[in-house]
Amino acid sequence: MSCAITLASACRKSWFNDRRIMVVDDDRSDLGKALLNNAPGVPVGTTGSELLKQLREQLAQYPAAVRHEARVLRVRRHPDRGFEVAMDDGTTPRCDILVLATGYKRWELEGLKREPVKHPRGGKSNRLMLEHDGCYLVEPELHVAGLLAGGSSQFAIAAGIGAQVAVDILSEWAGKRTHVHEVTET
Ligand SMILES: Cc1cc2nc3c(=O)[nH]c(=O)nc-3n(C[C@H](O)[C@H](O)[C@H](O)COP(=O)(O)OP(=O)(O)OC[C@H]3O[C@@H](n4cnc5c(N)ncnc54)[C@H](O)[C@@H]3O)c2cc1C
Repeated sequence: MSCAITLASACRKSWFNDRRIMVVDDDRSDLGKALLNNAPGVPVGTTGSELLKQLREQLAQYPAAVRHEARVLRVRRHPDRGFEVAMDDGTTPRCDILVLATGYKRWELEGLKREPVKHPRGGKSNRLMLEHDGCYLVEPELHVAGLLAGGSSQFAIAAGIGAQVAVDILSEWAGKRTHVHEVTET
């Protein structure tokens, strides 16, 4: 969600063109059971499900972005360009860039050549991560974010990696290093 919100927040830039962002999520985030007292900027006592609702509302303010609730079953590279994503509701959208952020507990995706390895900061032996180049790129057009990228299990870390991936993608679209800032009008 952090990656998608940051990407969508650039929608008024001239180089954004008519790009669209789709978050596919089957609503099993680790946040579901959390009570947050230490996530920076998040009011103390916020539940994870309240935070997920806020994130969904934040994403929904951008017409360029959509959240689609479904489980991804398979991902395969399209022979021309990008990826084809097969979901359990029968839809198979295509995308040019894919960001995997499935958390560190599950890996149910078929079709990719990559397999997760043991998470170095996961604590338990069954926690997973996807290896990347040090900047969250797994292979061309395939990024990884959140705990699946090797981050420790704190909301700020998972969200921060998502934002970093977004800024790297935006910089590619812009053709130069960029970020998305807005300023108060005073
Ligand atoms: C009980 C508990 C309490 C916590 N308390 C705190 C706290 O107090 N402070 C703090 O900072 N952090 C806390 N955390 C950690 C925080 O929840 C995680 O760090 C954060 O949620 C990780 O984000 P993520 O995006 O990597 O993974 P997740 O939030 O788990 O998101 C992964 C998403 O991928 C989706 N997904 C996975 N596979 C598929 C698929 N095949 N198709 C479609 N969707 C898929 C899941 O449904 C899920 O929505 C807590 C975690 C737990 C479990």
